[in-house]
Amino acid sequence: MGDLISHLKTALRAEHVLTGAEASEKAQGWSRLGAPRAVVRPASAEDVSRVLRACHAARQPVVAWGGKTGLVEGANADGAIALSLERMHAIEEIDVSGGTVTVGAGCTLQALCEAVEEKGLFFPLDLGARGSATIGGNISTNAGGNRVLRYGMIREQVLGLEAVLADGTILSSLNHLLKNNAGYDLKQLFIGSEGTLGIVTRAVLRLRPKPAAQSVALLASDSFECLPRLLRRLEKDLGGALSAFEVMWADFYTLVTTPPAHGTPPIAHGHPFYILVEALGGDESLSERFESVLGDALEAGDAADAVIAKSQTERNRIWALRDDVAQVARNAPIFTFDVSLRLSAMEAYVAQVKRDLAARWPKATCIVFGHLGDGNLHVIVGVGDRSREARSAVEHIVYGALKPSNGSISAEHGVGLEKRAYLSWTRNESEIALMRTLKRALDPENILNPGKVFEVNGEG
Ligand code: ZN
Repeated sequence: MGDLISHLKTALRAEHVLTGAEASEKAQGWSRLGAPRAVVRPASAEDVSRVLRACHAARQPVVAWGGKTGLVEGANADGAIALSLERMHAIEEIDVSGGTVTVGAGCTLQALCEAVEEKGLFFPLDLGARGSATIGGNISTNAGGNRVLRYGMIREQVLGLEAVLADGTILSSLNHLLKNNAGYDLKQLFIGSEGTLGIVTRAVLRLRPKPAAQSVALLASDSFECLPRLLRRLEKDLGGALSAFEVMWADFYTLVTTPPAHGTPPIAHGHPFYILVEALGGDESLSERFESVLGDALEAGDAADAVIAKSQTERNRIWALRDDVAQVARNAPIFTFDVSLRLSAMEAYVAQVKRDLAARWPKATCIVFGHLGDGNLHVIVGVGDRSREARSAVEHIVYGALKPSNGSISAEHGVGLEKRAYLSWTRNESEIALMRTLKRALDPENILNPGKVFEVNGEG
């Protein structure tokens, strides 16, 4: 081990190989990161290649670190070399006419969005961790967020990638073309595979024109049944401009609109559902259309109340309610979930989870909100107990209720360590077997984020 560390210090310069207290100081994030043996900070794909070649030879596990904002312990680097991409943050090229950007994996999502907006362009990925989360992390977890309904997850925005394989091979696949069916689409191997098949070092991303107009409204609804109707109506009548359809169940809305939260309720409490609706469009005519479409929805009874934001401040204020997820910590200790299921199964699913929780813990809290337009719910459960046994019992309830409708245990947060035991609740045997085949082929020594998503030598 000592040999490897000194080898890395020669390869990268000693100041970029942190050990001891310096390494543990870096091991702070949104979920457990463990105690890495060292944190290395390469500056280029060649540096990453040198690190991986050495670690491959020494069979030393390596875990890539981006913004460390993941929620499922996907970046847990206990006993591993943590490979931080923080120095590789350059925005290398913005191609305005082609609508692409080439960017280093360590660039934060927010820095990228701001840079392309200055050129009149738009990168549509948006999520709460935007200030810290990095493009490399977003890609390796296939991040979703607030505007998937219109633009898709980051997978849809990635045109090309550069990644370093376990043995140090640099795979340059920096495609700029929207269409390229020349053989296998290799970049897909590294999107959403949580750093288990390679380490993403650079990306070419697709950009869109910056929308000239944004309309935001908060709606209330008195029955779940109205929500899919409202969603489909808005999709159709807004002619493709609908960019977010975020639903807050009443408990969540109450949390974010009562002290100590700073938000005030734009619509009175008392409705079971509150919906944030956003449309992005090319010109100012959007706001007129938005208003008339919402008027029609109210008239048809697809919504019970609506408040349209009249200024940027009001638009930000409505989004701030949805983004104020930190309020759920008021019910701590809590367990957080990210599930995906068909809209038609959603109402019964939430009812069953609440029923099963209450049967075991009469004072349980269950806060639900999420990207309803994407079939993605975040479920936050508090049972007054943070023990491993309580967690497992809650997981069985939350994931078990997905089975009848073939829902997914992970919509957008990935699997990491946290959901590994439940992968087979969502993926079948042949799917998991092929995942293992790919892992063995690309990482025969099992050094890349080992043990995440699944155990390569495990059963089932
Ligand atoms: Zn989310």
